[in-house]
Amino acid sequence: MHATYRCWAEIDLEALRGNLAWIRHQVGPNVKVLTVVKADAYGHGLKQIAALLMQSGTDIFGVANLREAESIRSVGDGWPILMLGSCLPHEVPLAVRDGIHPTISCFEEALEFSKAGSRFGKTVQAHLKVDTGMGRLGTLPSQVASLVSRVAALPHLQIAGLLTHFANSEDSAQYTRRQLRLFREVLKTVSSLGVSVPNVHCCNSGGLLHEPNSCFNLVRPGLLVYGIIPPGKRRAPKDLKVRLRPALALKCRVTLVRELPPGASISYGCTYRTKRNARVAVLSAGYGDGYPRAGSNRGFALVRGQRCPIVGRITMDQMMVDVSKVPEVGRGNEAVLIGRQGQDCISASEAAGWCGTIPWEMLTNITYRVPRLYMGGVAS
Ligand SMILES: *Cc1c(COP(=O)(O)O)cnc(C)c1O
Repeated sequence: MHATYRCWAEIDLEALRGNLAWIRHQVGPNVKVLTVVKADAYGHGLKQIAALLMQSGTDIFGVANLREAESIRSVGDGWPILMLGSCLPHEVPLAVRDGIHPTISCFEEALEFSKAGSRFGKTVQAHLKVDTGMGRLGTLPSQVASLVSRVAALPHLQIAGLLTHFANSEDSAQYTRRQLRLFREVLKTVSSLGVSVPNVHCCNSGGLLHEPNSCFNLVRPGLLVYGIIPPGKRRAPKDLKVRLRPALALKCRVTLVRELPPGASISYGCTYRTKRNARVAVLSAGYGDGYPRAGSNRGFALVRGQRCPIVGRITMDQMMVDVSKVPEVGRGNEAVLIGRQGQDCISASEAAGWCGTIPWEMLTNITYRVPRLYMGGVAS
């Protein structure tokens, strides 16, 4: 299959569908699911993934910019879209015109949105963010009361949501619970002001996994939707590995197999020398496809179902693996960089570990020239 491609990503839409179903099952019927599809749906291809998630029952989408929102709207209208970042001043009227729900951290932003709302004759559905320890967006807990009362008085703007974001939910129960405590206090303060907020949310994938009782009435999973468990010190429920399936596999091919004598140097910088006679396969993928160069002399690829070490530096379009121990490797054979082959599987998290990065970056690194091939499911 796909014999014509040099490097490609296979995306299993059935896996995505199953992952969303599992998330739904976990959170129960009273919690909405906002699927995060920023950065081209974590490298999976925004339009196809948005279509699949619409069919599979997502409630809301989370994006990082207005172009992503536009892409989603081109696939299907009617789903609310929350902009997870802060809108730039020039984006405010565009977001209001298109009915995108903004994340708001301060009064200045709220005022800009209120003015744009009046200009377009619309009521902006704003989500107010509280910084309980992430240190990125949001207002400090001590300033929530004054912000909420001022924002609630603005015309053309409704407080549709109250949210916070975890900084360390995969690693630290203590820090995460401190954030949760602060958030709960904020909720009390807001309700004592007589302001009722329809959507309350804090859980990213790590939160959903590790703080299942703190979903409030909306969750914001990203990585889990794509079938990847956020790596970290906190232990995820054991049955998860069978419940979730990674949707993406990154594959390439053997373009050449060469016999090299002992002491032969491999690739730029001469960072690897063969110790004995070696059989080395050249693969048709490199950092130009998004496989990090940091995986040089550290990573592995699956060839004929076996783990073969990446030897020498990864180059832009090619990398070398030692296949001395694998019989009958030939030109055109499939090589798997992320995903399953035979009995073995390289997860995005494992590959990310070799490359000194995280699965989020591993996925979003996959470049434009890598075709995404969709299997299973019917995405328009
Ligand atoms: C990216 C993002 C998420 C999703 O994070 P995952 O760890 O991939 O689940 C949730 N909330 C916000 C605000 C985000 O920016």
